Amino acid sequence: MCGIVGYIGHKQAYNILIQGLYRLEYRGYDSAGMALIKNNGILNVYKSKGKVANLEDEISGKDYEGTIGIAHTRWATHGIPNNTNAHPHTSQNGAIAIVHNGTIENYNILKEALIRHGYTFSSETDTEVLVQLIEYIKIKNKCTLFEAVREALKQVIGAYAIAVIEKDNPNVIIAARKSSPLIIGVGDDETFIASDATPIVGFTDKVIYLKDNEIAVINRNAPLQISSIENNEPSQLDIQELKMNVAQLEKGGYDTFMLKEIFEQANTLKDCIRGRISDNYEQIILSGVLENKDKFINANRIVIVACGTSWHAALIGKRLIQEMCLLPVEVEYASEFRYGNPFITNHDIVIAISQSGETADTLAAVQLAKSKGAFVYGICNVVGASIPRNTDSGTYIHVGPEIGVASTKAFTGQVTVLTLLALCAGQIRKTVKKETVQEIAKGLYQMPEIIQDVFKLDETIRNLSHTFTYARNFLYLGRGYNYPTALEGALKLKEISYIHAEGYPAAEIKHGPIALIDKEMPSVIIAPNDSLYDKIVSNVQQVKARGGFVIAITNKGNTAMKQIADYCLEIPEVPECLTPIVVSVPLQLLAYYIAIYKGQDVDRPRNLAKSVTVE
Ligand code: GLU
Repeated sequence: MCGIVGYIGHKQAYNILIQGLYRLEYRGYDSAGMALIKNNGILNVYKSKGKVANLEDEISGKDYEGTIGIAHTRWATHGIPNNTNAHPHTSQNGAIAIVHNGTIENYNILKEALIRHGYTFSSETDTEVLVQLIEYIKIKNKCTLFEAVREALKQVIGAYAIAVIEKDNPNVIIAARKSSPLIIGVGDDETFIASDATPIVGFTDKVIYLKDNEIAVINRNAPLQISSIENNEPSQLDIQELKMNVAQLEKGGYDTFMLKEIFEQANTLKDCIRGRISDNYEQIILSGVLENKDKFINANRIVIVACGTSWHAALIGKRLIQEMCLLPVEVEYASEFRYGNPFITNHDIVIAISQSGETADTLAAVQLAKSKGAFVYGICNVVGASIPRNTDSGTYIHVGPEIGVASTKAFTGQVTVLTLLALCAGQIRKTVKKETVQEIAKGLYQMPEIIQDVFKLDETIRNLSHTFTYARNFLYLGRGYNYPTALEGALKLKEISYIHAEGYPAAEIKHGPIALIDKEMPSVIIAPNDSLYDKIVSNVQQVKARGGFVIAITNKGNTAMKQIADYCLEIPEVPECLTPIVVSVPLQLLAYYIAIYKGQDVDRPRNLAKSVTVE
């Protein structure tokens, strides 16, 4: 979590940093802060609780001169969101400033040792401990900032991406990372650092993805140097081209990023399947699978690890792979997997799903699975992120930057890639019929058009949503492929409207949750014309019989459902395994408009942040 941005060059840093913070704000918005060094050696540090706009107000009219600076937007892990805990943190003598993304696990031990050496602390953060440690080492060893940072990091247990500057040396930024992302943008006589590529876009298209345990010395008067924190061994500079444009980072006429991203889905799904289905729908061309045929033929089982929305996509993936590949599939929360002493062998394939490719728990699960000999496959969106770099193979979902904190287009992209993967591996294993591949591949190919049609529900859902701003609880029910879709629908509503919502397998309600149903408790019931349709009709009847209000998502022309449910949202008919993609759109819109009517900031819901790079 949290966003870091830094600049050193010939321009004034402030404008670049404040714009960078706005672009990174989706990663955390508990507080924001900036440190700038003027050429005469004055270090100005500004901080403000809350969103980046507050920081901009705070700095307005003040001295923000300087061609070197670092900035931060926080997602608090240690200490409440307030001005004191906001980054940058400075060392006791005021000479060194740091911004940090991550957590220092042994901060208490380090803090106690520093207190014994006369250090006092003003914040509750783990980060302040690190900057004090750097100062302590620098004074004790009479060494450079680089050496002090390196030495301090050797004593630290935890996850970090950091940027450090020093008042008396306006020519250098030290940056380092372990388990939290950091990118260096290489411009002409200027260098950028950032937690992701968004602050760099538009300034340079040359980037270096700092690797775990690397430290960089960015000196305006010397070539960029990257080396290993452990032994100072120099690293090769692996400069890559950044393929992202400014338009992708803007709202494009929509009120919010989330709404833009919902309506982008017809196009993002096109990008996601481009080149991956043959013209006659007979072949699925997923290079990550095709290049590793043996692994998929010889696999004993597949384990999918993920968190949040990606975990819901994983549950859909489980059904798809089991059906197409006749292989047992298990789905684990990445955070549970890593501490659950998982039984993994070298005949297992572990699939890791993460939009950002930086989710700390999923990345740790990847590393654990690799250490146990599994073949590890990543499904991510952000190109070049840590998970794709740490997996044996994988597939990008290619849906473009997702800025809205509640995931929408990434979810449908993940389900699409899992469908392609299940079909492609099924073909290799000869466990799926040619006609099945053709039917589903054709359905996927037509998906962008189908989604475009589903968007026609927008106005209906907007009007319907107004009715539910009163609701304190919601139930989302689905069966088969759409049980995970129900979980995802409930999660969307919780995340952005703060209404409690539970997703449940529809048939399970009679074992408990049906007791909750009354006229105050709306139920969203996913009831397409699939193999479980008749069963779900009974579930709708059960809810109605208890006086519940039912919004049914069903197929066009289903007049029978209109007789039972209070409200029907009608979607086009698609092959059963593709219904989660189609159903997701009305669920996203419903959550969106309810949240908007309740006046919530849907792009930046409270307490959340986009990519969870801490445990
Ligand atoms: N652990 C640090 C803090 O709580 C950094 C959190 C972050 O990544 O924003 O301030």
